[in-house]
Amino acid sequence: MAQALTGGCLCGAVRYKVSGDQIFSGRCYCNDCRKTSGTGHNAVLAVAEQGVSITGKLTDYTKPGGSGQPFTRRFCPTCGSRIAGVGPALPGMVLITASTLDDPEKFVSQMSVFASRAPSWDRPPADTPALGPMTGGRSAAGAVVQPRPADRSANNANARRSARAADFSMPDMEFSPLFWLEF
Ligand SMILES: [Zn+2]
Ligand SMILES: [Zn+2]
Repeated sequence: MAQALTGGCLCGAVRYKVSGDQIFSGRCYCNDCRKTSGTGHNAVLAVAEQGVSITGKLTDYTKPGGSGQPFTRRFCPTCGSRIAGVGPALPGMVLITASTLDDPEKFVSQMSVFASRAPSWDRPPADTPALGPMTGGRSAAGAVVQPRPADRSANNANARRSARAADFSMPDMEFSPLFWLEF
């Protein structure tokens, strides 16, 4: 059983608990995340929707992502904290905004998405894969980024049992859905 995560918005009206395993995590530097984050990127962790319980009123804002499919960002209507994101490009998942965790150290980023759009004042960290937009898995530096062999079996039981952020593995899908997501 994964370690439960808790978090909430700035004013406290919205609270959430995540009891399921984390599926993947990352920083998104797409234009939409930059606009909504208040800084150069949005840090998110993807979890199964059935493991997420949210209390309090949320306001939704929906706009098409890079795939053309709608993506909905969910905010506290009082203080504006971005709590979560959902959309058909990530079926069955909720993207929790890592900055709203009660303990932000519970988040470890596996990758940087849309890294080529990062502003000069908020560069992606050098110690995680940096993926550019719509490039089929090429990093900003031009190197092909592929999940390590162990990551390709992310759906195995060992991966799912892992509760430590450093052990998170990609779900059984290519990186490409993330390129098209604009989450
Ligand atoms: Zn609030
Ligand atoms: Zn994004």
